[in-house]
Amino acid sequence: MNQEIYLDYAATQPMAAEAVAAMEQAMEDVYGNASAVYRTAARAKQLLEQSRETIAETIGASPEEIFFTSGGTEGDNWALNAAADRAAGQDGSDGPRAAAQRRPQIITTPIEHHAILHTLSYLQDSGRAEAVLADVDEAGRVDPKDICGRITPQTALVSVMMANNEIGTIEPIREIAWRVRDAAQRQILFHTDAVQAYGKIPIDVGRDGMDLMSVSAHKIGGPGGIGFLYIRQGVRFGAFLHGGMQERGRRAGTENVPAAAGFAAAAQVAVRRMEAEERRERTLQQTFLEELRQGMPDLILNGPPIGPERLANNINVSIPGIVADSALIALDLGGIAASAGSACTTGAVQPSHVLTAIGADRARAKSALRFTIGPATTAEELHRTAQVLTAYRDRMRSLEDEAE
Ligand code: PLP
Repeated sequence: MNQEIYLDYAATQPMAAEAVAAMEQAMEDVYGNASAVYRTAARAKQLLEQSRETIAETIGASPEEIFFTSGGTEGDNWALNAAADRAAGQDGSDGPRAAAQRRPQIITTPIEHHAILHTLSYLQDSGRAEAVLADVDEAGRVDPKDICGRITPQTALVSVMMANNEIGTIEPIREIAWRVRDAAQRQILFHTDAVQAYGKIPIDVGRDGMDLMSVSAHKIGGPGGIGFLYIRQGVRFGAFLHGGMQERGRRAGTENVPAAAGFAAAAQVAVRRMEAEERRERTLQQTFLEELRQGMPDLILNGPPIGPERLANNINVSIPGIVADSALIALDLGGIAASAGSACTTGAVQPSHVLTAIGADRARAKSALRFTIGPATTAEELHRTAQVLTAYRDRMRSLEDEAE
């Protein structure tokens, strides 16, 4: 059964027609291992490199700085692991005690995706890095001065997401990046997880100053299972997968050429339409929130107010009187797909770590719903969603009253 109203774009975006067409063509026309020497392989290689060029252009990078990965999770894992190894490799070997004292620190925030937080826990548990968590305010904003205040001689990497996947907070990445550079004279790497920001807000790696950036294709209408890690030219940075010489020896494994072609097509479309789509989504976002508030005046908007500090595609609200997991089922029965917190935590019993970090109590976290919109979302769909949700909340309220 097709979902009538899809409002879970931050989890994954339906594929763009251009991406499907590019992949179909690649699958029909191109074969041969891109690393081989015969002519069909050259065609595969050419398409791979064309895709890399197209993607590089969207962020003002050079193609040599784009390393295809399997997605955002891999990019985040790579950035943290390689940064820890890089820092450890700079040291001499003068005994385990000295090594423990020199254990590289990684500064990040408590609202990162689990691809960052769980990787960091793993590095910490295995003694390879020490985690330092910066503060966030009640809207999930990071203070660049707070980040820089935590830098020590042990700091190897600062990793702050460009935009939050649950509450849509856009972080002051440029300011953080340049401050980290100034403070550390390029000894410390700055990584940003741009999985939710890429294709939604303009990115220019020269202007924005990051050394490393993770991106995923399926959040912008490309296929699942592909993304890239941007690695600034000149950054000494180890391989993630070892084996063949693919991705200039830094990420071994036969390349997925059709996926790269689909990613490039989706990226081109997303970036071309970005400004107009942002304006359109901003209007929808504002109207949707107003409609929700009309029916449920006591709801709480989680994250920053609507405006430049919030992604235009995100509405996250806590609705007193509902339990998010049950509300999702009611919405689903009404043909509406949404999410509680982030998709990755759906089904988990714990309240969202992001909402907890911004100071939401358990009740507020458990009643939080996330609606994320995209290119195919219409005002009519959002109007209908507000109606279905308000009716559901009213029903829950009257059941509560009857029970009392
Ligand atoms: N980082 C953020 C901010 C995300 O929202 C996600 C996916 O939800 C990821 C990383 C993981 O990306 P992928 O699904 O491509 O592994």
